[in-house]
Amino acid sequence: MIIDKQKIGLERALELKERIIDYLAVKDKIPTGTTKKDIINENKERIKKIYNCTEEQWNDWKWQMNNRITKVETLSKIINLTEEEQKDIMIIGEKFRWALSPYYASLIDPNNPEDPIRKQAVPHALEECDQLGKDDPMGEEFTSPAPNITRRYPDRLIINVTNQCAMYCRHCQRRRNIGELDVNKTRRQLEPALEYIRKTTEIRDVLITGGDALMLSNKSLDWLLTELDNIKHVEIKRLGSRTLVTLPQRITPELCEILGRHHPLYINTQFNHPQEITEDVYKATDLLTRAGIPLGNQAVLLKGINNDPHVMKKLNHELLKVRIKPYYIFHAKAVTGTSHFITRVEDGIEIMEKLRGYTSGLAIPTYIINAPLGQGKTPILPEYQVSQSKDSITIRTWEGKTIKYPNK
Ligand SMILES: *Cc1c(COP(=O)(O)O)cnc(C)c1O
Repeated sequence: MIIDKQKIGLERALELKERIIDYLAVKDKIPTGTTKKDIINENKERIKKIYNCTEEQWNDWKWQMNNRITKVETLSKIINLTEEEQKDIMIIGEKFRWALSPYYASLIDPNNPEDPIRKQAVPHALEECDQLGKDDPMGEEFTSPAPNITRRYPDRLIINVTNQCAMYCRHCQRRRNIGELDVNKTRRQLEPALEYIRKTTEIRDVLITGGDALMLSNKSLDWLLTELDNIKHVEIKRLGSRTLVTLPQRITPELCEILGRHHPLYINTQFNHPQEITEDVYKATDLLTRAGIPLGNQAVLLKGINNDPHVMKKLNHELLKVRIKPYYIFHAKAVTGTSHFITRVEDGIEIMEKLRGYTSGLAIPTYIINAPLGQGKTPILPEYQVSQSKDSITIRTWEGKTIKYPNK
């Protein structure tokens, strides 16, 4: 009897493996920051020579910031660009700001125009011919009850502390705020926002973002977090930062010592491709998690970068390995100059379909469409409820079996 049960279990195990056979066949071919380690290191040494910089300088986030690549001349020494591409970058650069840290540039395959890191960081001619995009499709300008605050929900809000980023994403949804000049908000500019939070007692969750929240100095962050700690109804704080991806050097022991004094504090970041998860990222997430900071990822679904179920699954697996919990996948919005990244909603639904059941629940984020004009994040799911009658519902399992389920 026992033997027979085990036989059934073994047969089922074979069937289960069959379910992911397509992923098993490709997973090791999807590049990650680890599998590309040697190439990334070579790139880094090459870039260090161009800058004539030391290892110590390279590992210093302020050096990385002060030496961001902003000129075609420098970029063309680091990655291979045709004359036409160089011209395009100059034209686009007039309209939309671009800059990338030498670190992020070292993740780019210099000879591959389709490289997923390059597509996120290097201007492309397609930005110019966007017919669809609007500057502020979210109507953020109409959901600001106080300066530097965006409030779209009953119990939480965003406070914008800077327009600065380590890298200006080509798919940036807040492009209109990214000027040509980097400015962190001063204490005096942030005071009215803090005053609004102090007097609005239903606000229990404050998201500090920008730009990139970790562009603030350690001292400013310490000040702002202390101010928020002193507001009794603020239960939790979150930082929105892409530095884990674009400038992991920003995560220093000193920063973690400061952040660790302001719990409960969460950080959400934005990895979009497994190639972004490098050894430096592991070091940074190790410091942050040891300081007690839970980490989440808000990916953006981007055409030609990650609109593929296998790539997304790999990304979520690699994130869990560095202790980042996949939180959201955002459907890309039609922001001026970024529409070429927009996928069809079916791409997102297929990704979700191929996650649930096929992999750990921990590796499954929520797929979100942002309703226009700041009407809120809206989850989109494959349909698992097939039909409903008076005393039963029909469900579909992850494998596609339909089952009648009592509902009395
Ligand atoms: C995204 C967002 C939040 C946070 O939403 P969660 O679903 O709680 O992560 C809060 N306020 C605004 C304005 C937002 O856009």
